[in-house]
Formats: sequence, C-alpha cells, structure tokens
Amino acid sequence: MKTVIGNWKMNGNIDLLHEVVPTLVQEGLGSTVGLCLPYPYLGAAHLLLREAQSGIKLGAQNVSEHPSGGHTGEISAGMLKEFGCRLVLIGHPERRSMYGETREVTARKLHAALDAGLYPVYCVGETLAQRESGKAHQQMVDELSLLAGVPTDRFAIAYEPSWAIGGGVTATAADISEMHGFIKDVLGAGTRVLYGGSVKAHNAAQVLCLGSVDGVLVGNAALSASEFLSICRIAD
Ligand code: PEP
Repeated sequence: MKTVIGNWKMNGNIDLLHEVVPTLVQEGLGSTVGLCLPYPYLGAAHLLLREAQSGIKLGAQNVSEHPSGGHTGEISAGMLKEFGCRLVLIGHPERRSMYGETREVTARKLHAALDAGLYPVYCVGETLAQRESGKAHQQMVDELSLLAGVPTDRFAIAYEPSWAIGGGVTATAADISEMHGFIKDVLGAGTRVLYGGSVKAHNAAQVLCLGSVDGVLVGNAALSASEFLSICRIAD
C-alpha cells in the first residue's frame, strides 16, 4: 500500500476542509493518507478526524527549529503535536527558494521535529540549474547526510525536483526511478521515498506503479476533493 500526502500550501478554506475530510473518511481511507494543512485549519481537522475515528494523518507544512520562547509568528513541534499532527514537511522547495531556508535551518527543524516525536517528510530535490550542471546527485548526497544515523522508520524523504513543482511538468519515470534508487542506496533500502511534482489523477498511476516509489506528495491536485480521492484510490 502506497502513501498519499496532500500539501495544500497556502490555499483552501474551512469549506474545503469540510468537503475533503468527509470524502476521505467515507472512503474508509486510513493511515496511508496524510493531509498537510495551513496552521489555522489543523485544530478543526484534528477534531473532524478524531470524531470519525479516522487514521488519516494530519500534518503541518513547516515547523520552528525552536521548542519555545521569543519567536513571534513561529509554531513549535510540540504545539503541532498538541493539535493532532503526526507529520511535518521540512525543507519544501518553496520554503528554501522563497524564505531562504538553508540546509543548516532544515537540519535544526528536522531534529526539532524528531525530538518532539513528529514524523518528518524531508523534501529534497535539485533545481533546474543543478540538474543541467550535473550537480543533482552531489547536492542530494549533501542533503541526505543530515539523516545519517536516523532510523529509517522515523522519517520519509519526498523527492521534489523544484522544476517539477506546481508547474505541470512531471519528472519522467526514468528520472524518478533513478533518483529514488539513488536515495535508497545512500540511506538504506528501507527508506520510504515519496515523489512530489505535478502529480495529478491522470498521471498518478504511472508514478505509483514504479517499484522505488513508496508514495506521492500532492500539491495543487489535493485542492479538489474528487481528484485527491482518485489519487488515493490509485494508491490503495
Ligand atoms: C508540492 O508543493 O509539494 C507539490 C508536489 O506541488 P504540485 O503537486 O502542485 O507540483
């Protein structure tokens, strides 16, 4: 059974939440599905999922590197746990490119999440410039070195080449298989590796059938209850 995690980014509203959660719950979907929502919707989502006794996993899209203190506007890993989160995205390409998150910052966030008992989905992937200059694998090795020594059942990797995010271009099956195989060679065969980058209902089967793909991280297509449900059905 493969994993499907939706990343709403800074989209959606409370009406969408009240459409998506019941749709997934009625389908009987459970712990192989995750929803990474904007912070304000987490409390309501937690109550909906708890009421339905659903195993669907709730997640955030970011977390503070600090446990508490004078960090106005930040949200700690402990707070996310209080609101029912089990997952957290770390190092999403949009955070790195738009908010200046360096590898030093993502490393601290990763450890803050692990220390609090959250399951980090650590996003890695090359830019187009890195790919074209033949640096994709070296930057991957540098990223993955942060996870050396962390047991593979405590995190997942999301391979998200930034050139494939949000723009309708999906990496080819060969690109995905090659990079997922590389990640598993570096971190160990038991590492769960999800693919993210313009996965939609119409192409999910081609991605999910690949042996090295343990699941998908879905951005824009997670904003339609029916399309997200279709992807979950393909993965089930
Ligand atoms: C994402 O932002 O994590 C993502 C995979 O986006 P999209 O599916 O829209 O490319």
